[in-house]
Amino acid sequence: DLDGFEEFDGTAFEAEDEAAENVPVVAVVGRPNVGKSTLVNRILGRREAVVEDLPGVTRDRVAYDADWRGRRFTLVDTGGWDPEAKGFMARVSAQAELAVDAADVVLFVLDATVGATDVDEAVVKILRRSGKPVVVAANKADDHRGEADATALWSLGLGEPLAVSAMHGRGTGDLLDAVFEVLPEAPAEREPGTGGPRRIALVGKPNVGKSSLLNRLAGQERVVVDSVAGTTVDPVDELVELGGKTWRFIDTAGIRRRVREASGHEYYASLRTSAAIDRAEVAVVLLDASQPLSEQDLRIITTVVEAGRGLVLAFNKWDLVDEDRRLRLEKELDRQVRVQWAPRVNVSARTGWHVDRLVRAMETSLAGWQTRIPTGQLNAFLGRLVASHPHPVRGGKQPRILFGTQPQTSPPKFLLFTTGFIEASYRRFVERRLREEFGFAGSPIMISVKVRE
Ligand code: GDP
Ligand code: GDP
Repeated sequence: DLDGFEEFDGTAFEAEDEAAENVPVVAVVGRPNVGKSTLVNRILGRREAVVEDLPGVTRDRVAYDADWRGRRFTLVDTGGWDPEAKGFMARVSAQAELAVDAADVVLFVLDATVGATDVDEAVVKILRRSGKPVVVAANKADDHRGEADATALWSLGLGEPLAVSAMHGRGTGDLLDAVFEVLPEAPAEREPGTGGPRRIALVGKPNVGKSSLLNRLAGQERVVVDSVAGTTVDPVDELVELGGKTWRFIDTAGIRRRVREASGHEYYASLRTSAAIDRAEVAVVLLDASQPLSEQDLRIITTVVEAGRGLVLAFNKWDLVDEDRRLRLEKELDRQVRVQWAPRVNVSARTGWHVDRLVRAMETSLAGWQTRIPTGQLNAFLGRLVASHPHPVRGGKQPRILFGTQPQTSPPKFLLFTTGFIEASYRRFVERRLREEFGFAGSPIMISVKVRE
């Protein structure tokens, strides 16, 4: 089904997924002027005054990378509500609800010198309903008197109010400890055995030249044959020295010990290909440049993208390609393959032509696969994007991206917090712009959206 493939462009969209869980979101909530921004700056350890000394100065909602005691989290500043605006109370509530919804932990900031106001009480209701862990910061407790003021905030019924002075830094360590205590558990590392040689799967349909290329790559340079503890059939990897580095080629036994291509074996061959891709970080998909692209080729490419692995397209048997075939191939690629982000190399396993370029492409792909965009930079980019190209209005509503994070690399996963359903075409647009801005060559990108209806 080539048609289905054409729809596919390398972006995997999920409404919500595990991407959200890796880097927890801590939302800083509270009415204007209680000191949220000052506190955020204090936590981030920034000295420069981002804070305007004016009540209710409008700021954009912004997200930052923070860490405490080795745990990374995303800190979201929800500042910038204008108390003069119509329906102020409703707006504060709506904003707080949004932030709380997106958050794993809420840092609720109050002004201890003022005490709990009606607006604070309204926020408390939202926090209670959410069931999210809440840490109460009684800010502006600059001295001992402030501590007494803080104690009064026990009345909110949200647990111990922690006396802090965002301005002077007093109590902020204890505050972060309290946040740390309620952060969701860090999930176990997904990739076992990282740190060794980079893992490459050399895949492609039968007869494209996998075995020939492997021989060419390994040549006399083969350093070790490494048996991986397996179950019934031992998959055997090969360590190969290329470009001054050792690479692990996955399941080369499956390539060398050639499975007969009788019908029935194809199913097992494809299982084996998928297993190799799963264990790899980057897959080199080998294609026979002298033959038209086939469904099987496209299926293998799709498998790599869906598995979230780095991708390199290698066109083998280039020694057989004449001008006519070359033009035809370009047309086939244009029409059928929507992974323009994948590095492409033309090689000949037979003559050894351009085989060295393959290594560079693998490195490009690995780099893209591991790229992480700092949250501040990502949100500056998203802010510009939303301002210049807002989502189209649908049914009288205009969904908006509020902020985003990249909780994961390998492959890069983005999480966008939005006010409504984001259309597929707009998500593709976001992906294109992400690639234009930040690269990610050779890697699929996953974009998840957390919608608040
Ligand atoms: P936001 O609107 O909640 O983000 O509040 P800001 O961070 O903009 O702070 C509002 C005002 O309170 C500013 O004038 C800050 O300098 C001041 N402020 C913030 N934290 C403290 C604090 O711990 N003690 C004192 N005395 N003033 C503070
Ligand atoms: P595999 O099934 O993917 O492992 O493919 P093989 O490595 O066994 O190669 C299949 C056939 O293609 C063999 O006859 C090879 O000699 C031939 N072949 C492999 N690479 C090239 C190449 O770069 N150029 C040409 N002309 N033939 C090649």
